[in-house]
Amino acid sequence: MTTDYDVTIIGGGPTGLAAAVYTGRSLLRTLVLEKQFCGGQIVNSAAIDNYPGFADGISGYDFAQAFVKHAKRFGAEIREGYGAEKLTPNPDGTFTIELTGGDVVTTKTVILAMGRRPRRLEVPGYDKFWGHGVSVCGTCDGAFFKNVPMAVVGGGNSAVEEGAFLTRYASEIKSIHRRDHFTAQKILIEEYLHNPKVQPLWNSTVEEILGDKEVEGIRVRNLQTGEKQEFPVKAVFVFIGWLPNSDLVKELVDLDSEDRVIVNELMETKVSGVYAAGDLCVRPIYQLANVVADGVQAAVSIEKYLEGKK
Ligand code: NAP
Repeated sequence: MTTDYDVTIIGGGPTGLAAAVYTGRSLLRTLVLEKQFCGGQIVNSAAIDNYPGFADGISGYDFAQAFVKHAKRFGAEIREGYGAEKLTPNPDGTFTIELTGGDVVTTKTVILAMGRRPRRLEVPGYDKFWGHGVSVCGTCDGAFFKNVPMAVVGGGNSAVEEGAFLTRYASEIKSIHRRDHFTAQKILIEEYLHNPKVQPLWNSTVEEILGDKEVEGIRVRNLQTGEKQEFPVKAVFVFIGWLPNSDLVKELVDLDSEDRVIVNELMETKVSGVYAAGDLCVRPIYQLANVVADGVQAAVSIEKYLEGKK
């Protein structure tokens, strides 16, 4: 069967676009499907300071734009606003993908690079104030809350890095974490805790986001003593981890207990011709450099796979 594409990459973040650079350079007919706009989660990052080679740092937006330009330069077709709604293996080893809006494409291989989405805080007030005082992106929403008290929830790299960014707007930050220490990189923790605006609340959890028409405060419970306290805040920024966007393939490939796609070192899933890469997958770490490398590996593996089929 003739197919429309050699490779269809689902997801236009750094992982998918890195794969597209490589498959494009290998003259494979490459389609990138991106259900919103290209760039992925990194677009929301104010400054990337740990991507090797960028000694002065780079904004997430500029970084993503460079990836898009690079993928296009080598001929990748990028369709923004088109998600993959259904992925079906065909009897001849190719795949059919139904897109948002009803279009259908066929492809010899697929790279799953759908990434992940932020985990929700399951407390009263989260939905009520979502987008109006509750946010998962400091870079996007911090500037709406100048000189007011804020809360930051979580203790990993995202919470500490975004919390540090938010100190430029907040009058003070209650930084709420369920452990007695942050688990972020030491250099990030030092910078964050050194800021006099940051008040960590250890062993604590948010029970409710309070307010009538806007966020007015949070009720926090100390997990050790059970004591409850209310703090006035005008915005709550939540950074409590991620959930993989693996729904499309949950019946097709193997997932781990956290719904991440299981791949081997060649980025192969259990389905021949279907590869997965980056944040969507079980990885030892989730750094920009290694999820980009995952995309590269998937592309090179596909090149060899298609060579073998000739
Ligand atoms: P993460 O490392 O999974 O941390 C999630 C944080 O949220 C942890 O402190 C966790 O506490 C807490 N948490 C989870 N569920 C919670 C709940 N229901 N209620 C309250 N707290 C909850 O997520 P992340 O910080 O977004 O980082 C994700 C990955 O991206 C990591 O691999 C990280 O290294 C990487 N990253 C790197 C950078 C960088 O290099 N500059 C920046 C951002 C992210 P527990 O520890 O108790 O589970």
